[in-house]
Amino acid sequence: MGKVAIYPGSFDPITYGHIDIVERALEIFDKVIVAIADNAEKRPLFSIEERLRMARDIFKETPHVIVDSFKGLLVDYVAKTNAKVILRGLRATSDFEYEFHMASMNRSLNTHLDTLFMMTSKDYFFVSSRTIKEVAQLGGGVEGLVPDLVVRRLKEKFKLPIAKRKQMGWDD
Ligand code: ADP
Repeated sequence: MGKVAIYPGSFDPITYGHIDIVERALEIFDKVIVAIADNAEKRPLFSIEERLRMARDIFKETPHVIVDSFKGLLVDYVAKTNAKVILRGLRATSDFEYEFHMASMNRSLNTHLDTLFMMTSKDYFFVSSRTIKEVAQLGGGVEGLVPDLVVRRLKEKFKLPIAKRKQMGWDD
């Protein structure tokens, strides 16, 4: 039974920042479970099915990565697996306070669980799903920050006027 980490999040959508964390975690863990939160209250842009499909597509050729979804409390989901570690990424000090509270809460709910934080890479510290959505909605290019298939899904969601798409070089 190897070392398993659960990497939970909204992944709305998945970015190269997320992927980088998974790839680095695979150097430490035998298996990484990307656990996508099915939380409609957060009003995600992409449905849980869409987020699952994108992430599964991205990791389909990466051994030891499993993509799953969960509802409700993370600690309840983790209890159904043999993971002992929750993996989270940290970008800026502004992430710290929220993450510190969540990690402390999860530890009080399950004292056997620890949260491991990995620093973002310098290439992705400014990448968040939220800014990706904002930029994409306004017609800005997000290539290089999210995989091509996510770029395509964003274009479909935000269906820009043809003229703008041509200008962005999307309709060739
Ligand atoms: P949540 O809604 O749970 O914050 P996200 O999908 O936004 O879900 O993020 C999931 C995890 O990935 C969080 O720990 C977040 O800090 C981390 N993360 C997001 N973007 C990056 C990035 N560019 N570099 C490193 N970690 C990141």
